[in-house]
Amino acid sequence: MGWIIVTAVVIAAAFILCALYVKQIAKHKFRCKECSEEFTLNWKTILFSQHYDNQYEIRCPHCGHKGCTEISGKDK
Ligand SMILES: [Zn+2]
Repeated sequence: MGWIIVTAVVIAAAFILCALYVKQIAKHKFRCKECSEEFTLNWKTILFSQHYDNQYEIRCPHCGHKGCTEISGKDK
């Protein structure tokens, strides 16, 4: 029965790592490609959005354009 515990631990660890990764991204700011407005996003929105590199297929809350760029969260 040990494999059930191992599997459960592995799945739990994967979920935790995924949640931590997404929450880290949620601290970052995003900039709309169309109107250049900056905004932050709910981590759930990021989790279910498609992205490649720092480009996210997320709808801008200001103008409705789909597609924004992640801005580095390292700067103040
Ligand atoms: Zn916009």
